[in-house]
Amino acid sequence: MTLATVPRYDPGGLDGGGGRAVVVGASVAGLLAARVLADGFEEVTVVDRDPLVDEPTPRAGVPQARQPHVLWEAGRATIEDLFPGYSDDLVAAGGAVIDSRREFEQYSRGGFLAAGTEYLPVYSATRPLYELLLRRRVAALDGVRVRPGCRVTDYLADDAGAAVDGVAVRDGGAGRDELPADLVVDATGRTSRTPRWLDEHGYAPPPVDEVRIDVGYSSTFVERPEDDRRAIVAPAEAPRTRGGLVAPVEGGRWLVNVHGVHGDHPPADPDGVADFAASLPVPQPRRILDERPQVGDVARYPFPSNRRRRYEDLDRFPAGLVVVGDAIASFNPIYGQGMSVAALEALALHRALAASDRQGLPLRFFDSVADIVDGAWAMAVGADFGFPQTRGPKSRGTRFFGWYLGRLLRAAHDDGALTDAFVRVLSMQEAPASLLRPGVAWRVLKPV
Ligand SMILES: Cc1cc2nc3c(=O)[nH]c(=O)nc-3n(C[C@H](O)[C@H](O)[C@H](O)COP(=O)(O)OP(=O)(O)OC[C@H]3O[C@@H](n4cnc5c(N)ncnc54)[C@H](O)[C@@H]3O)c2cc1C
Repeated sequence: MTLATVPRYDPGGLDGGGGRAVVVGASVAGLLAARVLADGFEEVTVVDRDPLVDEPTPRAGVPQARQPHVLWEAGRATIEDLFPGYSDDLVAAGGAVIDSRREFEQYSRGGFLAAGTEYLPVYSATRPLYELLLRRRVAALDGVRVRPGCRVTDYLADDAGAAVDGVAVRDGGAGRDELPADLVVDATGRTSRTPRWLDEHGYAPPPVDEVRIDVGYSSTFVERPEDDRRAIVAPAEAPRTRGGLVAPVEGGRWLVNVHGVHGDHPPADPDGVADFAASLPVPQPRRILDERPQVGDVARYPFPSNRRRRYEDLDRFPAGLVVVGDAIASFNPIYGQGMSVAALEALALHRALAASDRQGLPLRFFDSVADIVDGAWAMAVGADFGFPQTRGPKSRGTRFFGWYLGRLLRAAHDDGALTDAFVRVLSMQEAPASLLRPGVAWRVLKPV
């Protein structure tokens, strides 16, 4: 499911009176889930183990926060439906709206893609800023409470073990506590403990698809001229293990990133990053590092594998519990789709809640999430399988899609309509299958 096919937010779609909900994790997926729960529950408590300050600063619980984060249109439009004015807030706080026709330079398959012909905006800010603006909105909702410094240690279950009915927490101030809930949402990210809890309580844990890519990121900030919103992207792409990007963010800065897959990781010192940038096929990241004053140090982040927990394959699942965001699936971030997936999942949760039967809620929700994850997974893993070293389950059609996408990207060097088609897929407005439509396929496959 993409922005084109997902049923959008319906403000009147949910009656209140659903009792109490607890969301574990006040990151992007948790905050968006809390927003839709606030329509259907009298009380929504969002807990996070981290202290949460009213500043756009990185925090320990979100270690990827100092790496580049673009917000694609599926995510932006969905968040805007849930929080009208969010996009303007982001820009007012210094975030950039990049015009993909003029300010977004994409290097792939040996050349830059031709400028697109449609206005397809791309939003760019730091991860802490997206989250801070969401958290302020969520905290201002009736019936919602955000509890920082509060770690969930266990789920509570009814005597029969058929339903989760709350969480046990450890709170810096109050010590151990229990929060009863009619619905618990696990938004704890990639390290979610729900699979282990299921296993320990007589349920089958979800099957896991794991595709190893062993990517290392190093990022730093440099000063940016106020009205220069250029973004340059040259992702690692088989057989080239190295890539980089430059993205405008708030505070008059560019975030400059270099990365390498299958162990070809960049170093963590400024000179090492500059040397690594010099080995990229595009000169811009190195030039910008040389010319612009650096702000702050270098942040590293290792990302071992794409991981997808297939909750949709389960036959039995406790009532009163759902899982969202990276806790379900986290992908090689080169295409930057995680926040948009989380936003579309919030819509799926909204729809699943509106369809009344709470007993069947989890499995109904996981079914629609699978459709959302499919597209992002196909893009990320499809690119990774271009490297012969990549290991993991490969679905049918991966090899063909990789070949076809390569041909499309080469043809896009001279065809802005193909650049548009590609950006619409990246931004999750359209599914990867849209690239096979006759109007696109003809441009890709025509003899040169
Ligand atoms: C290097 C990198 C770059 C990325 N770039 C992009 C991009 O360009 N665009 C994009 O859309 N996405 C990008 N992503 C993905 C994006 O960061 C995530 O998909 C998105 O933030 C959703 O994450 P989440 O909210 O599910 O989980 P997380 O961000 O992992 O948050 C989990 C939260 O749960 C809390 N928590 C964990 N355990 C407990 C507990 N026991 N009790 C209480 N709280 C707990 C943590 O403190 C944290 O706040 C990138 C990811 C990486 C790794």
